[in-house]
Order: sequence, then structure tokens, then C-alpha cells
Amino acid sequence: MQIFNTETRRLEEFVPITPGEVRMYVCGPTVYNLIHIGNARPMIVFDTVRRYFEYKGYKVNYVSNFTDVDDKIIKKANEEGVSCSEISERYIRECKKDMADLNVKPATTHPQATKEIPGMIEMIQELIDRGFAYVVDDGTVYFSVKKDPDYGKLSHKNLDDLQFNMRGIAVSGEDQKRDPLDFVLWKPKKEGEPYWDSPWCKGRPGWHIECSVMSRKYLGDTIDIHAGGEDLVFPHHENEIAQSECANGKPFVHYWMHNAFLNIDNHKMSKSLGNFKTVREIDAKYDPQVLRFLMLSAHYRSPLNFSADLMESAKASYERMVTCAQNLDFRIGNAEAKELSADEKELLQKADGSRAAFEKAMDDDFNTADALAAVFDLVRFINSNMPEGSSRAYLEGLKKELVTLTDVLGLIVERAPQADEDETAWIQEKIDERQAARKSRDFAKADSIRDELKDKGIILEDTKEGVKWHKA
Ligand SMILES: [Zn+2]
Repeated sequence: MQIFNTETRRLEEFVPITPGEVRMYVCGPTVYNLIHIGNARPMIVFDTVRRYFEYKGYKVNYVSNFTDVDDKIIKKANEEGVSCSEISERYIRECKKDMADLNVKPATTHPQATKEIPGMIEMIQELIDRGFAYVVDDGTVYFSVKKDPDYGKLSHKNLDDLQFNMRGIAVSGEDQKRDPLDFVLWKPKKEGEPYWDSPWCKGRPGWHIECSVMSRKYLGDTIDIHAGGEDLVFPHHENEIAQSECANGKPFVHYWMHNAFLNIDNHKMSKSLGNFKTVREIDAKYDPQVLRFLMLSAHYRSPLNFSADLMESAKASYERMVTCAQNLDFRIGNAEAKELSADEKELLQKADGSRAAFEKAMDDDFNTADALAAVFDLVRFINSNMPEGSSRAYLEGLKKELVTLTDVLGLIVERAPQADEDETAWIQEKIDERQAARKSRDFAKADSIRDELKDKGIILEDTKEGVKWHKA
């Protein structure tokens, strides 16, 4: 399995620290609002990475945090006149709802920053003790970037260039730091902000320290994969490496994975352009699975464009998978339980060829675009190889092949019957009417009833056991 490592800028063979296990950390959202579709991309992409590892037989320990103390949360809480924890708990709940809709599995652990403060104080103290951090008069603790000879190794930034760019940039409240490159590990409280006691002052942690601490606590000093959006490479992930490696004295991460941006109608999504789209808004118009499908239709390291047209085409493609699964279910329900024929055995083997193509694509740095192409090859194969009289075992074999692959992508192709009681009764009435018309040889009427149902998305199939129907 090849993974593109942001740090080495190369495809590398995946070798786990512990055979058969993957320790993986994915930076999660700051919870002050409903998540937008840009937040959803890493969630879906790295959930798919996890699913593929699991499909390959790995046990995956998947940690993803919620940042629940932050300037934006404090601002929102003050606007609403409620506590910060009320805001963060509300949006953690909403985020989990969106994740469930997108079929993103819950992480093994979802730590929250505010519940990990003692660990952060401990790591900051270790950094001070080892000479990598210092405390200034007002109690702020800074990380001393120049003390870390490896700083810049992930983002490939040169310290001299960075320093040049930082010339004359003063950050308010940070006037006591020794070097413009240094970043905050702990800062004193301000009026109206949540705070915790610490050896340096009453205050709160900087943003970067939480991920170093949670990763160490739940996954150990060195982990296999750390992932997130490419906007996190610098400074967030660069700072995480500095903190973790200087505190632990060990390598932090073996493989760094970053997903590319999501654009909307070919523009960068931004508050100022007013083109922010929440997952909730999209889910009101589409099955959330369509959004998941769209996210997987491009390689995770390529920018992805979101537009109404692309959603429509994703919808049509996704529906083809679902229809294929429904047709199989329908046939399975009517099939005879008999031995697989020699022909059927051969066909099943051919169908299994799609799985090889699928795995080849996924082994190549999780190329979900090519993996989807392999799934559609399978869909085409199934659609043209379901002859009347097929055995149940054969049809079930095809179904298993399809569901196995779509499951790895987290795409649900099996739908519960969607008609309610009234609708089912109405459909049955129409079917009876059509049967009566056929009996009296009024074929024009029978056909028009079939078309009427078809217009409503109800497909009839005449079988030996009578008329069956399913939704298109
Ligand atoms: Zn992080």
C-alpha cells in the first residue's frame, strides 16, 4: 500500500509500527457552528482511509478531536449570552448528527480539549524543563522555535524566510515573546473567557498543544498516520511536530496525509464571498450519500469543486449503484435456491475481477476516483449478467461483491423500502387494476397504468409469482 507522505513529498510503502494495527489521528473541527462542506471533506476522506485499512484486516485506533475552547466559541457564547460549554456541546451534538448522515464512523475516541487540560499543562511543563519553552512576565508560555533544529520539516519552510516574513508583524498581547516565530502554548485569561489554573497563570492553552497531548495520550509517542486538511500543514501541524518531538524525544508521525481544498463553483469557500455551505443545507436537498459520493469522486489530494451540476451528476451516478442493488434484491427474492451452475461460477469469478481493480486503486494512495470506476465496471457487469432463472446463490454472490466494495467507500446502496402504508395500498390498487385490464385484453389501459407508476418512480416486473414492484 502506497501513501503520499507530505513530509517527504513521496509515495511510500505503508509499514505499520505494530503489525496489523494502525494508529491514526485526524484533526477535528472547532465547534462553534454547523460544519460546512469543507469540514466534511477530511471527515469523509479519512473515514474511507480507515474503512480500507479495516477491510484489509487492520485494527484501526482512530482518534479525532473536537476543539471546544477557542476565540470563535467565546465570541459566539458572548453573542448568545450563554456559556462556552453550552455552545461547544450543542455543536458537537450537531456535528455528530452530520457525521452519522454522511456515514462517517464515530472515532475510537473523540477527545475534547477542555477535558484534557491537565495533560496539556504536563506537556508544557516538560517543554519548559527541557529548555524548549519559556514563561514571560504576564504568565504566557511560548515555544521557542529556534531551539528546534527540525522546525519547518513538514511544510518545507526555511526559518530565515519565515523570520523575514514575520518582520514587523506584532500580534496584540504577544509583545513579550523573544522571537517573532515563537508560538503560544499557554496564555493568561481575559475578562469573560473560560480559564484554568496552571503553574504560570490562570488562563487557557494555545490551539496547537491539544493535538500533541491527545495524540500521545490515546495513541502513544509515535503514531502511524496524522491527517487533516492541507490548510493545517502550517503552522498547526508544524507546531504539533515541534511540541511532540521536543517533549517526547521521539519521532511523532510516520505518515502525514493532507486533503486538498474544496472550492464552490470554482471559488474558494469563504465567509466574505458568502458561499459558505453547511452539510445540513446540502442534506436538505440531497441524500447525504450523494455528498459523500461527490467527495470520493476526486482523489483526496486534488482540489475538488462543488457545484449544483456536479451534485446532480453525482446523484445520477450514485442512483445507478442503488438501482443495481435493488434489482439484485428483487431477483434474489424471486430466485430459486439451487446449486451454482458452472457458468455462474465462472461469472462470479469474473465479477471478482472488479475487486482486484478496486484494491489496486485504493492501494495507490487511496485513489477513490479509480476505485469508483471499478465499482461501476461491476455495476455494468451485474446489470448485463442477471439472466432469468439465475440461482439465488449466484445473485447473492454478485450482491456481496457490490456491497463489499461500496461499504469500503462508506456508500450505502441498500435502502429500506421507502413506501409508506398508504402508498403501498395505492400501488397495489393500481397493480390490480392493471391485471384486470390485461385479463379483459385492454392492453392500452394496462400499459398506461404501468407508465403512470413509472412516472412516480415505481417499476413493475412481471414474474412467475405475480407482479412485483420496486422504486427506481
Ligand atoms: Zn490538530
